[in-house]
Amino acid sequence: MDRFLSLSDYIVTQISPIGEVIVLTISLLIFVLIYLTRIIREAGAVLVRRMVMMCFFASIVRLVEYVVMTGGTVSRALVYTLRCGYYGLVLSVVFLFAAYIQSVLNRGKKERKRVLYISGITGLIAIAFDIILSISGANFYLLSDGRVNSVTGNPLIVYILFMYIVVVVSVIRTGRRVSNRVRGGIISSAILSSALIFVQNMFNNQYWLTFAVLLPIISGIFIFNTGSYDSLSSTMVPEILISELDKALKNGKKKHMMLIDVRDLEDHLKNDPEFIDSYRGFLNDIVSQGLVCRMWNTGIVILYDGPMDAEKMEVEEEVICRRLDGLKVGYKILCVETDERVTKAAEYIDLLAGIRKKMPSGSCKIVGNKDFELFSTNRYILSELIDIYSKRDLDDERVLAFCQPVLNLKTGKYDTAEALMRLSLEKTGMVYPDQFIPLAEEYQTIHVMTLIILNKTCAFIRKALSEGHDIKRISVNFSMLDLKEESFCKEVLDIIEKNNISPEKIAIEVTESLTSSDLEEIKPKVIMLHERGITFYLDDFGTGYSNFDRIMELPFQIIKFDRSLVIQSAKNDESRYMVGSFAKMFRHLDYNILFEGVENEEDEKNCREMDAQYLQGYKYSKPIPIYDLERFVS
Ligand code: C2E
Ligand code: CA
Ligand code: CA
Repeated sequence: MDRFLSLSDYIVTQISPIGEVIVLTISLLIFVLIYLTRIIREAGAVLVRRMVMMCFFASIVRLVEYVVMTGGTVSRALVYTLRCGYYGLVLSVVFLFAAYIQSVLNRGKKERKRVLYISGITGLIAIAFDIILSISGANFYLLSDGRVNSVTGNPLIVYILFMYIVVVVSVIRTGRRVSNRVRGGIISSAILSSALIFVQNMFNNQYWLTFAVLLPIISGIFIFNTGSYDSLSSTMVPEILISELDKALKNGKKKHMMLIDVRDLEDHLKNDPEFIDSYRGFLNDIVSQGLVCRMWNTGIVILYDGPMDAEKMEVEEEVICRRLDGLKVGYKILCVETDERVTKAAEYIDLLAGIRKKMPSGSCKIVGNKDFELFSTNRYILSELIDIYSKRDLDDERVLAFCQPVLNLKTGKYDTAEALMRLSLEKTGMVYPDQFIPLAEEYQTIHVMTLIILNKTCAFIRKALSEGHDIKRISVNFSMLDLKEESFCKEVLDIIEKNNISPEKIAIEVTESLTSSDLEEIKPKVIMLHERGITFYLDDFGTGYSNFDRIMELPFQIIKFDRSLVIQSAKNDESRYMVGSFAKMFRHLDYNILFEGVENEEDEKNCREMDAQYLQGYKYSKPIPIYDLERFVS
């Protein structure tokens, strides 16, 4: 083939209007889809839009080139300008693509700078070479008679290929942090694009050059914004952890994990540029051997292969702690190795969540044998709770009604009491509320259990009354979840009626930590039951944030002062004055006061002096099975 072609012949061998129209269509489509689906999340969104826009304009420039140059005489200046414009855009796209990959993978600041310098400098060198080669006749240039020196394969193409190598290298250098799928996705799109460019050049044309640089951008949008990658934290989504871990558990492969929980992680990642920089460095420097996944809104979990070397892990924890201390954020670090007792990934997540909740901020822990045991016990308790819930048997034998008598100072008798729940389970024996109430509330099985206690309490009252015992009333603890139940009032009244006792014999204890929306929701129900004769107690006064407006909006009759107030009031005169004043104020408003946790003579004396009407505590009796209450009430 002749090296020198007329401009129109040359352009036909170089540009395919079809290729460019396809790029125009696809980039427009991407824009519309980005707008409609809002698929692109925080990281790199601006870069993606910019790159797609540049591809769009690059194709327009190419089409203009095509139309102008096949159209006849053209000024040399225009030919050069269009060529500069096109390559300027295409080069910028690949440059931005490298920056985009750095940004979404959250490579550290230092690393990003290095890549940008390398890309920038090699870009300038490529441009310089292009100019020198053109001037020396070894590259594209226009002869004075309007013909073109039609050599392809210029330094700019080499630069584009080089940028893909940069991308591939930096992806490989993120290590195992990002899952193989993500790394594989980027690398294969870079290779595909390079291959397309390379093959075209073998055939001496550039029909699909713009398309080739658009390709990796499309895959980037896919990889980073759909499904498995969380671009905010530059880690994998939790589902990836679950599937990787489940796979390992199924194949009997040991794994170990480290949970790094950072308070307000999401907030920091969204709003705190200084934090983001350190976080990037942190990810790159510290967690390169394991797969990193996002966990909840506050943490990341690193999944490592093989068994855990506890000593090594402690050293690693140390390093991470120091690093996080530097970031000035609240954190918790928790390590765990897979264990036969737990066989599902989701259970490991529960295990971590449960232990994390109880850890103080700034602490590190390795999950031990005791934790696994406690976890298995809790899982067993939970399965029983769910069974109790689903059977809905109001006489379920696993739910025990215990009772603590309350001393009425006016009558000097134990004529009221508080019902307290216990569980009696086959494998564990007796289980106490601190171990199962939080579970029952979390898994929403509490309501049925409350109804069981209410039913058993009513049955006891019926029997005791019929035997001639003097019982004024027994209070039952209700959780906020109970009061929010749609059919709460009807269920309570039905149970009372079924046992053939008067509603006056029942009181409901509600805890102090009511929010205002709770209040709005429960107020009509409480008022309705109150009108039917049920008494309401405000439980645990002094432990939450008291809001007197709210307290006064509900028809409470008795305020139960928490044991912490009894202890506090014994400490010094000021505290005593404060607690005493509260008591006086409530008395003044016609509430009755019950002091909880009266353990000894001194507590009792103290409470009597503070205007108490009722006293409850170990001094009089520990909680006892409800039928033993007969000893106190006769
Ligand atoms: P609470 O309602 O404040 O119940 C009083 C708790 O204080 C009981 O613990 C009781 O055993 C304990 N206590 C009684 N006297 C003393 C004392 O002199 N000193 C000290 N230190 N403690 C004393 P328990 O039975 O373990 O119940 C713990 C919590 O579990 C209860 O606190 C209540 O919030 C919840 N709970 C118990 N039964 C039920 C129930 O049937 N339904 C619901 N929703 N919650 C329940
Ligand atoms: Ca209570
Ligand atoms: Ca209480």
